[in-house]
Amino acid sequence: MVIPTQFDAGGEFYRKNPPSAPKEAVFIFAYPLILGHMGKNQPGYFGEFGGRYAPEILTEALEELESTYQKLKKSKKFKKELEFYLQNYVGRPSPLSYAERLTKHWGGARIWLKREDLNHTGAHKINNAIGQALIAKFMGKKRIIAETGAGQHGLATATVGAMFGMETVVYMGAVDVQRQNLNAKKIEMLGAKILPVTAGEATLKEATSEAMRDWALNVSTTHYIVGSAIGPHPFPTIVRDLQSVIGKEARSQFKKQNHKLPHAIVACVGGGSNAIGMFHAFLKDKHVAIYGAEAGGLGPKPGEHSATLTYGKTGFLHGTKTLIIQDEAGQIVPAHSVSAGLDYPGVGPEHAFLAKSKRVDYRMVTDEQALDSFLEVTRVEGIIPALETAHAFHVARDIAKELGKKKDLIICLSGRGDKDVTEVLRLLGEKNK
Ligand SMILES: *Cc1c(COP(=O)(O)O)cnc(C)c1O
Repeated sequence: MVIPTQFDAGGEFYRKNPPSAPKEAVFIFAYPLILGHMGKNQPGYFGEFGGRYAPEILTEALEELESTYQKLKKSKKFKKELEFYLQNYVGRPSPLSYAERLTKHWGGARIWLKREDLNHTGAHKINNAIGQALIAKFMGKKRIIAETGAGQHGLATATVGAMFGMETVVYMGAVDVQRQNLNAKKIEMLGAKILPVTAGEATLKEATSEAMRDWALNVSTTHYIVGSAIGPHPFPTIVRDLQSVIGKEARSQFKKQNHKLPHAIVACVGGGSNAIGMFHAFLKDKHVAIYGAEAGGLGPKPGEHSATLTYGKTGFLHGTKTLIIQDEAGQIVPAHSVSAGLDYPGVGPEHAFLAKSKRVDYRMVTDEQALDSFLEVTRVEGIIPALETAHAFHVARDIAKELGKKKDLIICLSGRGDKDVTEVLRLLGEKNK
């Protein structure tokens, strides 16, 4: 069977040979890729979104992963090991801190920060990387691979690869290897191999396609550590479960200190892993308002933003049915955001569902607004947030005002901004020209 280089390729081929598909769906997949397609009532769906739209050659690997994961989820030994590493290697639980200065500065609701930036490697991504590396270990797989955009997930994977002594390969767009050179260098220093991808835009989307292709070819020895709550079932569920430690901790920490639940929570959404991790424990708390912040980029024109939940249409990308930024012909439009971690034309299928069902209110934040919030939080609170996280802060400022005093708002501080300092200085220089 032919494995297309680009898992999202095939626009031309598809237009000439349209597969029979649900009417509302726009296929962005090459034809052979829909053979593994599952019905909507099967596990792995969030409403109409999700599922497993992967090539046949991956079906066995995905099924093996699913059944192993079902067992591991219940295994005391697995849970104990995961807990051990989260505590002793990642540094969990991360604090939930009251941000007094920011609260006063914004003049509205009380602001609480869930400090994922204090994790080892500086963001939430390690929660997932370590969990999936453990799954690989339990499956007897000695090689791990990953895709990375900004390099943060590559860094987290290279880190756990070094710690567990596993052969690690990271696929990274050639453009990103240049743009995110420090992370690329760190990944190599940790002993992982970077394979630069030059196809298409040479960024995250292409890196993801290449990683899936590698997995298809090496599945007997290799586990693919998907970096966000995206991809074919069971990945969105596994990543969600591994990141849901964020919200579980935040919920019980807040409850312990305040003897109630917060009025609202907010997180930024790229692929959606820190957000779904933060949201999941609160979904059933109907009176807790939930907000997501997505990248509005430079503006509303296609190609200028990564606001999938605002402008996306239903389609198929990287093995899942979700909202995607696409043109009239169903071709993916390259995404843009000032923060490389939000720069993805798709979004995790569970977020597509939560947007459609209106449980979560997703708002756009422009590059400029994110930059303002980045500087504001740095000066006022003494915390340099990641540019991704700065999007969440911007939405939080609006919500804090909407809620008013004596209400409580938790922000998921997904990561620290050391990696963004050079880029921020460059942007400020441009602004002051
Ligand atoms: C990668 C990244 C994100 C975006 O990824 P999600 O899967 O949407 O969480 C957000 N914040 C930081 C700090 C990141 O590194």
